[in-house]
Amino acid sequence: MAQLSDDCFAFGGPMMSVDEAVAIITSRIDPVTDIETVALADADGRTLAADLVAPLPLPPYTNSAVDGYALASGDLPATAERVFPVAGRVQAGVAGEEVARGRAVRIFTGAPMPDGADTVFMQEDVRLDPQGHVVLPPGLKPGANVRPAGEDIATGQVALKAARRLRPQDVAVIAAFGLTAIAVRRRVRVALFSTGDEVVSPGDTRGAAQLYDSNRVMLAALLKRLGCEVSDLGILRDDRVVLADALRQAAVGHDLILTSGGVSTGEEDHVKAGLESVGKLVLWRMAIKPGRPVAMGVIDGTALIGLPGNPVASFVTFVHVVHPAIAALSGTVWRKPVPMPVRAAFSYKKKIARREYVRVYLRHGDDGALEAVKFPREGAGLLSSLVETDGLVELGEDVTRVQAGDIIGFLSYANLI
Ligand code: AMP
Ligand code: MG
Repeated sequence: MAQLSDDCFAFGGPMMSVDEAVAIITSRIDPVTDIETVALADADGRTLAADLVAPLPLPPYTNSAVDGYALASGDLPATAERVFPVAGRVQAGVAGEEVARGRAVRIFTGAPMPDGADTVFMQEDVRLDPQGHVVLPPGLKPGANVRPAGEDIATGQVALKAARRLRPQDVAVIAAFGLTAIAVRRRVRVALFSTGDEVVSPGDTRGAAQLYDSNRVMLAALLKRLGCEVSDLGILRDDRVVLADALRQAAVGHDLILTSGGVSTGEEDHVKAGLESVGKLVLWRMAIKPGRPVAMGVIDGTALIGLPGNPVASFVTFVHVVHPAIAALSGTVWRKPVPMPVRAAFSYKKKIARREYVRVYLRHGDDGALEAVKFPREGAGLLSSLVETDGLVELGEDVTRVQAGDIIGFLSYANLI
């Protein structure tokens, strides 16, 4: 299990900024170090365990980038008519061809360059005369349309760095080296709970004052997108003793415990107190809207993050707080997503000294520029506000108002997870 340092502190002062909170959370987390080998087909999304050093050059042999005619550029007369007899033909997959002096070889994309040839004329740029000789245009540089061995990646070069979260294009590089399996870190194991007497699982009987648990399936899906192994541990009732006991049990065999609900200041909010009775609270509450009550703590070396229960607050704090924590646990480098500048199609007032995320969708304005339209309502419980928007506008701590026409920073949901 990833172990957390024990010298944690309980947070008592003014509300902490999101950046400070994330810095503290990630600094308290040690990455999972266990390594396993997976087949290439299962490598997407996994964290590369070690630098991948190229065992062969890419491309592995010098070849033609086009369909055309290969020849030695030294054979081209400077001024005279450039008519070359065609002698030979080389197609992809066949090695060992040569080009005779003053002749061209018919060649196809991906075929190895014949010995002696260094340049390929594209078939679209030449014509064949009645004798079947190829008539070459002037102006082509020696070496044109050739892909030298190793031009992409040279043997011995670090092709992929350790700790990289593999994407489909990274897996393609591994395959290009002929490897069938790759060493990755084991998945981060997350125990997931919902909390609340009013929350029931879909499929169960719902009482008149109860609602179906929507957070758990959302958070599980978000975790899986980050490559985690999720233990769905159901719903905890609003009972401190039961809750504390469940958290302590979940600390065994997991790298992170994630809960939603029950972290506010209400009498029936037991996550913080439950955590304090079996572990240590590291921080609680941060200057983020929607969100604010987010608890982070440690139980027997396992991290716990308690998210607020309102679905939008859960979602927003997941992408801005849990995501960096998972990155730290996975051993990958966390890069704060970079907001894209767009024009505000709304006006908005906000409090200073806290970060806000406004739900927006994008459209093209009359002049064609991209503009962000705010979802008309602001409630942190409105699932429709997440469904009907494209992303979040980030309003920094210093901002107090947005006016229509201002340039603001947009974070697409697609980039957040
Ligand atoms: P809490 O943080 O426990 O005070 O909950 C805040 C709000 O979120 C309340 O209206 C809860 O009913 C709601 N809520 C809590 N947990 C969930 C959940 N798992 N799914 C949907 N709504 C929830
Ligand atoms: Mg609750």
